[in-house]
Amino acid sequence: MKNVIFTLITFSTIFGQQTIGEDPLNSPMHIFALPHKAPLQKIEPSGMPILAHFDSLELLLPCRGVPVPKRASRLPNAPRTYRSGTHRGIDFFANWGTSIFTPAGGVVVRADHDYKEVPPKFRVDLLEESAQVGQTPSDVFHNILLGKAVFLDHGFDLVPGYRVITIYAHMSTIDKNIIPGARVDRGDFLGRSGNTGTKDSTLGTRAGAHLHWELILQDANGEYYMGQGFPYSDLYKMLNRIFVTE
Ligand SMILES: [Zn+2]
Repeated sequence: MKNVIFTLITFSTIFGQQTIGEDPLNSPMHIFALPHKAPLQKIEPSGMPILAHFDSLELLLPCRGVPVPKRASRLPNAPRTYRSGTHRGIDFFANWGTSIFTPAGGVVVRADHDYKEVPPKFRVDLLEESAQVGQTPSDVFHNILLGKAVFLDHGFDLVPGYRVITIYAHMSTIDKNIIPGARVDRGDFLGRSGNTGTKDSTLGTRAGAHLHWELILQDANGEYYMGQGFPYSDLYKMLNRIFVTE
């Protein structure tokens, strides 16, 4: 922290002319320079998360008035045959343009402001390739199927023993302040729901708008999604407990 402050002071001394009238403690540079909380020691492999790992988790529902869906097909572990894969997240069915708020504080690591929808045939061809490999290739998933997306890094504090990121997919717009490196607090406005990355979007319609949301946990062994392998009843009960309205 001392180094950061020293760097800021040095910077504003050298480039004082450019910062006249600007509050150095409230400048974008200061915000970007805030150290991200990291563990002092390497995180040991914790393995596949169990229910108890989520005991103290309390997240704000990302779309106001849209509860955790009951249908198993909208929850983690649901099969996704169209892409030969498994659903890793929650589909919050919210009308096109519904405001999305951050469920927890974090740092933006991806924000697809310039996302352009892909041609329909290209998407179909990629899904055919997915069928051939028998799973959803990560490049197809991340670059095509998520559509216009935001990724947030929550560091190591949200779930003990893991680094946590959350993903917001199929968005129609992203707020201009949401750019990589920016810090967000719980409840900050991220952007609006849409259907980018879906077949309907490639066909130029607004059908099927929803927020696809994921919470990914990482340790030395790899990564997992929240709810991975949980039976439906445990999963639904857990999600209802950890998602709150304020
Ligand atoms: Zn989904």
